[in-house]
Amino acid sequence: MTTFDGDRYSRQTRFSPLGVHGQERLAAARVAIVGCGALGSVSAMALARAGVGSLRLIDRDIPEWSNLPRQVLFDEADVAAGVPKAVAAAAHLTRINSRLAVDPVVVDLAATNAEDLLGDVDVIVDGTDNFEARFLINEVACRHGVPWVHGGAIGAEGRVLSIVPGSTACLRCLIPDPPAPGALPTCETAGILGPTALVVGAVQAVEVIKLIVTGRDHARGTLLVCDLWEGVWRTVDLSPLAEAGCATCRQSDYPWIEGRCGGRPTPLCGRDAVQVSARGGAVDLESLAARLSTIGKVHANRWMVRADVADGIQLAVFADGRAIVSGTKDEAKARAIVSRFLGA
Ligand SMILES: [Zn+2]
Repeated sequence: MTTFDGDRYSRQTRFSPLGVHGQERLAAARVAIVGCGALGSVSAMALARAGVGSLRLIDRDIPEWSNLPRQVLFDEADVAAGVPKAVAAAAHLTRINSRLAVDPVVVDLAATNAEDLLGDVDVIVDGTDNFEARFLINEVACRHGVPWVHGGAIGAEGRVLSIVPGSTACLRCLIPDPPAPGALPTCETAGILGPTALVVGAVQAVEVIKLIVTGRDHARGTLLVCDLWEGVWRTVDLSPLAEAGCATCRQSDYPWIEGRCGGRPTPLCGRDAVQVSARGGAVDLESLAARLSTIGKVHANRWMVRADVADGIQLAVFADGRAIVSGTKDEAKARAIVSRFLGA
């Protein structure tokens, strides 16, 4: 057994609830992290350092200057290079732990790919900023029996909930209908104090480690809520919700992964930008870059093409056909720009 690289994990294995046996379980574990923003960066870093064997990083976006106060896996060079977050994060994580098997996936989690990306792992981490993705995760988790750790951070407030299908309440038990876009504060409208995300991501990482080491039967089923500015931490017992269950966790109703919900253009949290889903399939980035270069400044790499297409408007197109229109929050305008330049 060469998993431990000498005494690399000695302080961790000395922690008796984990021990050498727990460390071996971590080394054998496969974790998917959806979203490599603040929560995803922190939990990925913590899990890579803790010795989790395999991480799949799923993210649709590229790093921005406004990410740097809290997205711990990126630096100024990543923003300048325009490398997708999943790829940049994977490079940093490999430098932290060369034994980590890391699989960066630059896509938007959607009904068409969620089961392939999430159905075969041991634990899923919610590093997302939107309820569409969270409901997709919840349904894959319930259908395939995969535990997942929901997290959220806004302002100086955080929440964490470990969801174990068949044991605890699921996300739909807690939130029967996802809130309408714009109905809740986001990190764009309410802001976020950077370290809040570090706390929440770290708590999520502890929950993942507990699920891997102690098994799914030890999940407490309580929602942790904290207000770090006021210094208040509390837990909410969700066992009454678990006893009642919901259509997803009791009756196998999966409207999101079956495509009956979702799929609309998505305003991106924390950015003056809208994502437009792929409709026409894969894109030839090289020829697109050539076409767009007649309109404005183009930045291209093997994952995406980004171009200034109008005054204050930037279009980024990814190889899977997905586009992010920056400089607007107007979904119709974003859709029109994508149609104009991609014909989708
Ligand atoms: Zn449920």
